[in-house]
Amino acid sequence: MHSNLRFWSVFALLLLCAFASAQQKALIPEKLERPTAVDDKGVTQWAEHKAEQCPACVGKGKVKCTTCERYPDEVTQCLDCKRADPREATCRMCAGEGTLPDPLEKTTCPGCSGASFLICNVCAGAGGMHIGGAKQRSKCPACGGDGGWKCGACDGKRLVEGAALKPSLKEAKDKDLQKALAATDAVIEQLSKFEPKGGPKARKDMKALVKLLESVQSTYPPIKRSVKPLDDFMSKMYAGSQFQGSEENEAATMKNMAERVTYYLKLQKRMIELAHKRNEANAQAAAGCAADGKAGKDDKGK
Ligand SMILES: [Zn+2]
Ligand SMILES: [Zn+2]
Ligand SMILES: [Zn+2]
Ligand SMILES: [Zn+2]
Repeated sequence: MHSNLRFWSVFALLLLCAFASAQQKALIPEKLERPTAVDDKGVTQWAEHKAEQCPACVGKGKVKCTTCERYPDEVTQCLDCKRADPREATCRMCAGEGTLPDPLEKTTCPGCSGASFLICNVCAGAGGMHIGGAKQRSKCPACGGDGGWKCGACDGKRLVEGAALKPSLKEAKDKDLQKALAATDAVIEQLSKFEPKGGPKARKDMKALVKLLESVQSTYPPIKRSVKPLDDFMSKMYAGSQFQGSEENEAATMKNMAERVTYYLKLQKRMIELAHKRNEANAQAAAGCAADGKAGKDDKGK
């Protein structure tokens, strides 16, 4: 029994390492820029989007697969690279396009962070495991051997739309931008304090997370589409509760979800701020014009 326990601790450790490493590079939301240009009427407009080369894959659309790099050699499946040589995965930052999308139009999915799937956190996507040191690998009880599920929030497409403002995020009125920004900030703040526990507390914590997501779902349709898939996904993870380390695993799964949603919200926050900056520039220009016009009239009057 003792050696069994040790086996499971080692296994859990391996899994946690797998999560930690299964991260591809991501953009820093606060540093994102979206160029504008002043037109001949003096109005600041969004410049046409120039598709820049993706820095994560240097334009290749593929990166080294980090999902399966810690799998034992005998594992033949990987949701990212299928374990096919040279074990490359689609780049999550650009969705495999090689160039970055217009951040005002498309952005990384809050459900999967561009992976296109939700990886099973019981087997780390490998689909099976040696239970209790058995020679034979057993199918993972959570995913039934599939290793994960297609992301329902983006339908496997990796990129999604941003804030649903009227008429669009690009052209939204400042009043609406401010409202969206306040709601977004509040959830980012709450998510940063979200410290989920696994085990008996997991269901309660998942409920709290769902409530947080629902509080911004009217502004963010991709978050609305994430709620059910993430909740369903978490219920599947309980099938791993017989394994040692499952409490930490469940907690990490929820923490991970919160981080992915936070990343999406931070990208959106940045876009809202840039849209606000543009509105402000135009309001200032308009105020300047009005003052000039008035001065002009006064001159004529003299
Ligand atoms: Zn890329
Ligand atoms: Zn792989
Ligand atoms: Zn997704
Ligand atoms: Zn699994």
